[in-house]
Amino acid sequence: MSGMPALQLSEGAIDFINEPFIHGLLKGKKPDAKRVREIIAKSLAKEALSVAETAELLLADSPELIEEIFEAARELKKNVYGNRIVLFAPLYIGNKCVNDCSYCAFKRSNTYAIRRTLSEEEIRQQVVSLENKGHKRLILVFGEHQAYDAEFIAKSVRTVYDTKVGHGEIRRVNINAAPLDHEGYAIVKAAGIGTYQIFHETYHHDTYARIHPENTRKGNYLYRLDGLSRAFEAGCDDVGLGVLFGLYDWRFEVLSLVTHALYLQDRYNVGPHTISFPRLRPAAGVNLDENLLVNDDQFKRIIAILRLAVPYTGLILTARENPQVRRECMSFGVSQIDAGSRIELGGYTEAGDAQVMEREQFSLGDIRSLDEVMRELMTDGYVPSFCTSCYRVGRTGEHFMEFSIPGFIKEFCTPNALLTLEEYLVDYAAPETRAVGEKLIEEELARIEDGSMKSDLAKRLKEIRDNQNRDLYF
Ligand code: SAM
Ligand code: SF4
Repeated sequence: MSGMPALQLSEGAIDFINEPFIHGLLKGKKPDAKRVREIIAKSLAKEALSVAETAELLLADSPELIEEIFEAARELKKNVYGNRIVLFAPLYIGNKCVNDCSYCAFKRSNTYAIRRTLSEEEIRQQVVSLENKGHKRLILVFGEHQAYDAEFIAKSVRTVYDTKVGHGEIRRVNINAAPLDHEGYAIVKAAGIGTYQIFHETYHHDTYARIHPENTRKGNYLYRLDGLSRAFEAGCDDVGLGVLFGLYDWRFEVLSLVTHALYLQDRYNVGPHTISFPRLRPAAGVNLDENLLVNDDQFKRIIAILRLAVPYTGLILTARENPQVRRECMSFGVSQIDAGSRIELGGYTEAGDAQVMEREQFSLGDIRSLDEVMRELMTDGYVPSFCTSCYRVGRTGEHFMEFSIPGFIKEFCTPNALLTLEEYLVDYAAPETRAVGEKLIEEELARIEDGSMKSDLAKRLKEIRDNQNRDLYF
């Protein structure tokens, strides 16, 4: 790129998105029911699928086979993740941006966007408000700008961690920001980040080039594609992938996501911790191409097929989607959602429920409160969880293949989910929500076989209920 400084890549970085290969797979013949069932069986045995096998699931488009795929995704989710849903909230730190991504209201050519970067004090105010609602996990979001370098990101992370109010504290801070160089990742890692997320937006080269001008940082496809490889090399082994669906053929994007996940797995022995699949939303100054937008039926297939393709990767469904879609999609394999989200800068204390186009990156589909979402989840039989224990005791990356450890969910995930839920119920829930939650905890406890784990858990739950203790985990 002319006029841009040379950018550092990972050792032996390559562009591993082979378009002719992916397009070829998508032109393949439709699999019959027997073949689809073979692939599903592999996935239910918790083996990752190849890109070619994933393509066959995408090609299976009869209503009966799609239903079988949905059913398998539900079953796999139940077996691998149980009925827990992890909750988090996004915190937008700054929307200055040097890029000009056609789909985003923060793009530099959007001159009527109000640009703002939260001061340290303003970050604290937002965090206090989030903690007072019961949040324990945040993702900090940044535009791409020289003001938001690794030091700035690290400082923001530290500010969040050391802002505490009452029993409130943030125990895990994830990041969604521009790709960094090795040194940058080491700096943010030292601040104690959880997952570093970078969405590739579209893996299709021509589309990528068209919507990310060449003379911008983000215009460099390989630098972004390689972003999480550099993270691994710098010691950040907890990374998140994503695509912005609605920019190019969704089936191509699904195969590219799986390609990327397998590439990281092969190269670093660890796959991505999460995959996000945001759908393009209306935004100030943005024209959407209606022909490429992903409809609800396609969206459900995306989630179910990703669930089957990468059984060990968490799937994140965001509040871009409306409550009905979220409720329906939850069962297909989602493991994390955000709730009570505001994406305008300062929105947790300033704008109330109003959605202000000049201040938002895009508009949200679900602006219900955390408490409302918690109540709905529990009514639907899910156990909302704020658990952060694995990351805090060092169970991450290659040292930790959560789900390959027999009995892991029983031993750690369910008890920890219940402990964090109890904290929420005691400290933050509305009376009606607390009633639903206490009943759910009783039911879950009754399902645990008698033994020292069960009695230990019951004892810890009581300690929380009696206000003697907090932040207990296995
Ligand atoms: N600036 C950084 C970057 O581009 O990677 C990170 C933050 S950006 C604010 C977070 C994500 O929001 C982008 O990666 C993109 O996928 C998503 N996004 C941008 N515009 C959107 C829109 N109109 N609707 C839905 N999601 C959008
Ligand atoms: Fe900037 Fe990110 Fe928006 Fe692109 S998507 S304009 S890089 S904030």
